[in-house]
Amino acid sequence: MTAAARMPRLAERVASVAPSATVEMSERIRQAQVAGREILPLASGDPNLETHPQIVAAAHRAMLAGETHYGPAAGTPALRAAIARRLSGRAGIAYDASEILVTPGGKFAVFAAFMVALESGDEVLLLDPCWVSYGPGVRLAGGVPVRVPALDRLDPGMLAAAVTPRTRMIVVNSPANPTGRVFTREELAALVALAERHDLWLLFDQVYADLTYEPGAFAFLQALPGAQGRCLVADSLSKTYGMTGWRIGYLAAPEAAVKAALKVVQHSIYCVPPFLQAGALAALALPEFVIDGYRERFRRRRDRAAAVLDALPGFSCPRPPASFYLFPKVPGDDKAVAAEWLERLAIAVLPGSAFGEAGRGHLRISLACDDEVLEEALRRLERHYRG
Ligand code: PLP
Repeated sequence: MTAAARMPRLAERVASVAPSATVEMSERIRQAQVAGREILPLASGDPNLETHPQIVAAAHRAMLAGETHYGPAAGTPALRAAIARRLSGRAGIAYDASEILVTPGGKFAVFAAFMVALESGDEVLLLDPCWVSYGPGVRLAGGVPVRVPALDRLDPGMLAAAVTPRTRMIVVNSPANPTGRVFTREELAALVALAERHDLWLLFDQVYADLTYEPGAFAFLQALPGAQGRCLVADSLSKTYGMTGWRIGYLAAPEAAVKAALKVVQHSIYCVPPFLQAGALAALALPEFVIDGYRERFRRRRDRAAAVLDALPGFSCPRPPASFYLFPKVPGDDKAVAAEWLERLAIAVLPGSAFGEAGRGHLRISLACDDEVLEEALRRLERHYRG
């Protein structure tokens, strides 16, 4: 008998959760590269942006200055204030530093939101297809994810029909992973109305909000009338600044909810390392044209890749209005197509069904890779499908 077979039972809450499809694919690619097999990585949401040298220098200075101890659990006052200022400016509504909690990545902000809002057995509506971590996050917090199909349009009637006395929250991600779609003001207003009617929390995940290609068309959910008081906003510096490894994100919410989430932070991670927060402060001080430059790179890749994919026989690839993802409809079973690309073309992407039933028949292709990698992948695809 192995040691593992003798160990006590694992908690069902954790054992029942599937591993992250995106993280697992990144691990597979890393292992293949170690084994000498080159795979073109179009699966990861880690933008190929070098962290700006001013960010690195600020963190270095902070380390040398001794900011290597526990810091304020909610985040340093300077960073909370800077986040509140930038968020207020972008969303067009006022946030105070007391309404900001610094978290290790947007992922923990999402997790903390589930922890503070859900009682055991509470239901959370997810708009399918959606980011792979919402369902498991809800389960880890003791809740029950309920998926509502919303690939191309949000049907308010269908959403309303999914509400039960146990429903506690709706999760909205705009711009959305995996589709790159942006929810319209009208769609969001319908969600706010539903949330008001049933007294629900709205979790708004806006980690891709800096990567919208038609900024005028983008609506921040919390800025809609009646929304801010029931809105838990999760955001991150990962995607905007190429800082995925720094693990810096935040939760913006009514102060009482921030105070509740602070207890989750205090009793789990204590705080985000202060020297990393010094780096984050430097990021927020960068001029906006730095972000404009990053966005432009992704826009060029989106235009190029969507045009090539859309022209492949049996494919349909509209250009999404935001994010660095494409979500083309592909001929055949998405898992089979993704496996074929991996085995025969050494191109790693994710099957759309990894993001939920409504994603079936699609692939999620990430353009967060290098230009050369993308070009080589497009060459291989054209050769493969056109002969
Ligand atoms: N939310 C969405 C929709 C994401 O796609 C991701 C990362 O892929 C995150 C949140 C979390 O990112 P991070 O924890 O790096 O801030």
